[in-house]
Amino acid sequence: MTTTTTTTPQTHVFQAEVKQLLNLMIHSLYSNKEIFLRELISNASDALDKRRFLALSDAALGGDEARVRITFDSAAKTLTIADTGVGMDAADAQAHLGTIAKSGTKEFFGKLSGDQQKDASLIGQFGVGFYSAFIVAKNVVVRSRKAGVAVDAAIEWTSAGEGEYTLNTINKADVGTEITLHLRDEEDTDATEFADRWKLTELVKKYSNHVSFPIQMVKEDWDEKESKFVTTGEWETVNEASSLWTRSKNELTKDDYDSFYASLSYDREPPLAYTHNRVEGRSEYTQLLYVPATAPFDLYERDRVAGVKLYVKRVFIMDDAKALMPSYLRFIKGVIDSNDLPLNVSRELLQESRDVKAIREGSTKRVLSMIEDLAENNPEAFSKFNATFGAVLKEGTGEDFANKDRIAKLLRFASTGADALTSFAEYVARMKPEQTQIYVLTADTLAAAKASPQLEGFKKKGVEVLLLTDRVDEWMLSHLRDFDGKPITNVTKGAAGLESLQDEAEKAEAAKVAEDMKPLVESIKTALGDKVKDVRTTARLTDSAACLVVEDGEMSAHLARMLKQAGQDAPDVKPILEINPAHALVLRMQAKADQVPALAQLLLDHATLAEGGQLEDPAGYVQRVNALLLG
Ligand code: ADP
Ligand code: MG
Repeated sequence: MTTTTTTTPQTHVFQAEVKQLLNLMIHSLYSNKEIFLRELISNASDALDKRRFLALSDAALGGDEARVRITFDSAAKTLTIADTGVGMDAADAQAHLGTIAKSGTKEFFGKLSGDQQKDASLIGQFGVGFYSAFIVAKNVVVRSRKAGVAVDAAIEWTSAGEGEYTLNTINKADVGTEITLHLRDEEDTDATEFADRWKLTELVKKYSNHVSFPIQMVKEDWDEKESKFVTTGEWETVNEASSLWTRSKNELTKDDYDSFYASLSYDREPPLAYTHNRVEGRSEYTQLLYVPATAPFDLYERDRVAGVKLYVKRVFIMDDAKALMPSYLRFIKGVIDSNDLPLNVSRELLQESRDVKAIREGSTKRVLSMIEDLAENNPEAFSKFNATFGAVLKEGTGEDFANKDRIAKLLRFASTGADALTSFAEYVARMKPEQTQIYVLTADTLAAAKASPQLEGFKKKGVEVLLLTDRVDEWMLSHLRDFDGKPITNVTKGAAGLESLQDEAEKAEAAKVAEDMKPLVESIKTALGDKVKDVRTTARLTDSAACLVVEDGEMSAHLARMLKQAGQDAPDVKPILEINPAHALVLRMQAKADQVPALAQLLLDHATLAEGGQLEDPAGYVQRVNALLLG
């Protein structure tokens, strides 16, 4: 363990983001400083995992007992965390301890709220854990020898966390990494409390109990003569150090599962549900899967890290095993430990493996059962789930054909017919006897949905409409065409399906009105030209004069708007203008043909505004309204 300097240290500057991060970390996470230990132990554990994995294909790279040792010197105010993991060479140290390689750094800064508790839980999620050492240390020294590297080619990295670090070549007898923290001892940032056995033991048990490797400290015994604890020189393991998922369900408590979840996720909130099973049969594996209570910051990012870790026969293989869980369940966290997969399985192989396919299908079913169980037996947790992940689950209706019906049953929506969120099944149970379709309305926001003119005809008839305001909803509707044999109809599209609710007399009346209005409809069409696709009368309006709809199968205006705002391509969809034949304004147009051109444009403008759209020519609109008011 002794180290000798063999060259002159080289000074490097941190990447700009690192400086910013260090600054922020030291100041904003101060009240939560104990998390540094969790971060450093987690890195040691990752390094041990990596070395064990490498040793599978090259035994020369393994050899040492896999463990983490914590020592301290209260007089010198130092704390050292040493592992026998894979280690780092100079290039690794520069790449990992001098830069933040991960994308998302900027998002990280954006997310920090100033709430120290919340910010602390983000640190782990963003993988900037190492730098948390500087919350408690005024100086950090990392000595490391990478597996396969010579004794005299080890490295020493030193930094005071102030923009620079030095790198040096040293001798190091053991493979692995040893991180020494020179604890802060100024009055306002004092961290010398961590150079204490009881404090350290408590923190290891609190945060790192379920790390699968032994975390050891020197044993102390009570000495009667001296009346104090004295070291015995023996090492003692202070954590559980067993892979929790390999233990039998019967010997585990909810607390065990919760604390394992905490160590896996860094989530401050306990999970909503978990499932732990040993699956036997064609494919043998153990799964321990959790439904979190909080969403990860990158839930909607394309290249986000998946939450399920893959192990093969207890050997850690990879984080981010996307192939193990369908994308619509990407919020699930946990561990899958396979008995059949080869240890050298690659990401590519995972995609194609039949065993993986079986694991994914089995795990998907388990997760759906877990959510179904919440829905049936734990309404409070389920409503939390729904608020957090409901929109993501909807993606499953298009992604997972086999489980589409199960997923549809789990979805909840706002509705004109109920104050609480409602399911398709509850909606169907409330349907009118003559009603054959499930009516839904898509809009940007719940307020816009509730105020939508398209609802008027349904309200008049007392027919319930589900109000869908998630971005994914329209996409979902293109896959989820019916529920329980009843077609799902989007009332902002096509003919609204109101006809099916009309009796013979109403139908005849509507036909007559359409006939009477034909000349007016034609002259509105002429006035508006190619601004609209069509003009027609409708029965769906009672209070409003007009509304806009799109053809079945076309993208709705609000979705096209959202896509354009997000900088994505969206088709230019021409709307259909529907007019209310009973409205005073429409009747006036019918009576006074000379006013049709001006009023037609006004109808279109108002219908656009009513559905939350923007006018192409707002100044022209103001002029037209003024002219009408004065004229
Ligand atoms: P993360 O663990 O999410 O990658 P960290 O900031 O905690 O982010 O660590 C950065 C990187 O530094 C690690 O990914 C690893 O490559 C390297 N590293 C940190 N600690 C160790 C260690 N004890 N042994 C080997 N490598 C380490
Ligand atoms: Mg880390």
